[in-house]
Amino acid sequence: MTSSVPTKHVFVTGGVVSSLGKGLTSASIGMLLEARGLRVRLQKLDPYINVDPGTMSPYQHGEVYVLDDGSETDLDLGHYERFTSTPLTRESNYTTGQIYLSVINKERRGEFLGKTVQVIPHVTNEIKEVVRRLAGPGTDVVITEIGGTVGDIESLPFLEAIRQIPLEVGRENCMFIHLTLVPYLKAAGELKTKPTQHSVGILRQIGIQPDILVCRTERALDVADREKIALFCNVPLDAVIEERDKDFSIYEVPLSLQGNRIDEIILRRCGLQAPQADLDEWHDILHRLRNPEHEVSIALVGKYAEHRDAYKSIYEALDHGGIAHRTQVRVQPIKSEEIEREGAERLLAGFDGLIVPGGFGERGIEGKVEAVRFARERRLPFLGICLGMQCAVIESARNVAGLAAAHSTEFARDTPHPVICLMEEQHGVVQKGGTMRLGAQPCVLADGTRSAAAYGRESISERHRHRYEFNPKYREVLEAAGLVIAGTSPGGDLVEIVELADHPWFVAVQFHPEFKSKPTAAHPLFAGLVAAAVERHAGSAWVTEG
Ligand code: GLN
Repeated sequence: MTSSVPTKHVFVTGGVVSSLGKGLTSASIGMLLEARGLRVRLQKLDPYINVDPGTMSPYQHGEVYVLDDGSETDLDLGHYERFTSTPLTRESNYTTGQIYLSVINKERRGEFLGKTVQVIPHVTNEIKEVVRRLAGPGTDVVITEIGGTVGDIESLPFLEAIRQIPLEVGRENCMFIHLTLVPYLKAAGELKTKPTQHSVGILRQIGIQPDILVCRTERALDVADREKIALFCNVPLDAVIEERDKDFSIYEVPLSLQGNRIDEIILRRCGLQAPQADLDEWHDILHRLRNPEHEVSIALVGKYAEHRDAYKSIYEALDHGGIAHRTQVRVQPIKSEEIEREGAERLLAGFDGLIVPGGFGERGIEGKVEAVRFARERRLPFLGICLGMQCAVIESARNVAGLAAAHSTEFARDTPHPVICLMEEQHGVVQKGGTMRLGAQPCVLADGTRSAAAYGRESISERHRHRYEFNPKYREVLEAAGLVIAGTSPGGDLVEIVELADHPWFVAVQFHPEFKSKPTAAHPLFAGLVAAAVERHAGSAWVTEG
C-alpha cells in the first residue's frame, strides 16, 4: 500500500438484540484484513456514561480489560488483541462519558467562544475527532465498532457522527457493516427476516445505508431469505453474509466469514488491493482444538464464578494453553463462598488444576484462601492471579509461617500481620476511577524458578490492576516458610511473583497474564499450568489422594 491511499473507515453496528458478537466480528474482520497484509487499527465506541468500565461491577459489564498503557477498557478489546496484532491504546475505546467530559472541559476553558454547546455539532465533532485520530499514513483501515443496538437513545450521537464522516473523507473511503439477527421461529418453522428489515430501516432513517449485512442465525439462510434481505435492505445479494452460531469455538468465526468472502467484499468496496490471506496458522489452531490428545479439568474459584464474562480472558488463556499442549481444558467455575460452606476437599477433589483469579472485596475471601491451602497441600497445579496471588501469600503466612491472623489490609484493616498492604503510592488516593497501579510494568525473574523457565527470559513486562501489594516487611519470614520470590520490580521493591519450590506447579502473580495470551501464542504461565495439569491427570490413575 502506498501512503497516498487514504485510510479507509469500516464502521460496525448492531441491530435487533445485544450480544450478537459485534466485538468478535470486528476482531475477525481485523484479523482477515491483517492476514491480507493491511495495517489495521481497531476501536470501540461505547454508549454508556461511565468514563470507563473500571468502576463497573463485573455483573454489569464483565471483565475490565487492561491495556499496556494502563487504560481500563471494554472486554471486546480483548478479542481485538487476541485476533490481531493491532496496537491498542487509550484511543481504542471511548465512552459517551469520555466524550462529554472532554466537551464539558472545553466549554469550561471557553473554547467554544460563547456558542451554545449542543449534541450536534459539538458532541458529534468530538466523536468524529476520536475516530479520525486513528487514521493516517501508517494505517490502511480503521475498524470502529459502535457499542449498543441501533434504536437505543444512547447510541444516537455515535451513529449521527459516523453518518457525517463520509461527507468529510468521501463515501468511497467508508463502509458500514451491520450485524443483525435472523431468528428461527419454531411455530412458523422458518427464519424471519423482518427484525433485520426493521433494524436496517432505523439505520437508513438516520442516514446510514449499510454496505454489508452480517446475519447472525442458528440455521442456514437459503437463497430466498438472502434475496429478501438484500431487496428490502437495499444491499447487494453477495453482501448478505450468513454468520451461523459457532458451537465449537469462537476461533472459527474468521474462517467462516472468509468462507463467505467478507474480506473480498470489503476490499472491493474500499477499492483496496491485497494478496490472498494465508490462514494456515489459524487452521492449525482449530485442528488442534478439534483433535486434543489430552483432557484436563481446572477449577476456577472466584467471587463471580458463575458469570463467565467476568473472567473472559482467563477462559480464553486456558484454551490457548490447551492449544499449545493439544489438550482439551474443561473449566469448572466454583463460587468461593461455596468452598466456605462445603469445604475445599469436597469441591476440589478430582481436579487437575486450580486458578484463583483477581477480584475486589471481602466476600468469598476465606474460600479462596482455603482453595489455595488445598492446592498447596495436595500438590494441585495452581495459578494465582492478582487477588489470587495475595490469597496465596495470606495462606502461606497463616498455615506455614504460623501467623494465624495474617490478612490483607483490604479486608482486615487492623490485622496484626498485614502480609498484603496498601501500596505506598495509594495512600491518600480517594478518586476511584483510573487510580490503581495500572498497565504494563517491568518485572525481573529469579534464576532457577518455574517462572523463569516458563518465560525463558529474565525480564518480562506484564499488565497490572491493583492497589495492594506483598508487604516487604514479611519477605524474610515468608521466604523462611518456603515461599519463593520468583519475580520483582526491577529495583526489587515490589514482589510480583511467588512460587512454592516443593510443588509441581504453584505460581502466583500480582499481574494479569491472561491479558497477554493469544491463540497463536499461549501465555507461558497458562501453558505451564495446563502442562502441569496434564501431568497430574496422567499420574492421577496411580496417585492416591491423601
Ligand atoms: N483487590 C486487590 C488489590 O486491589 C486485587 C486486585 C485484583 O485482583 N485485580 O490489590
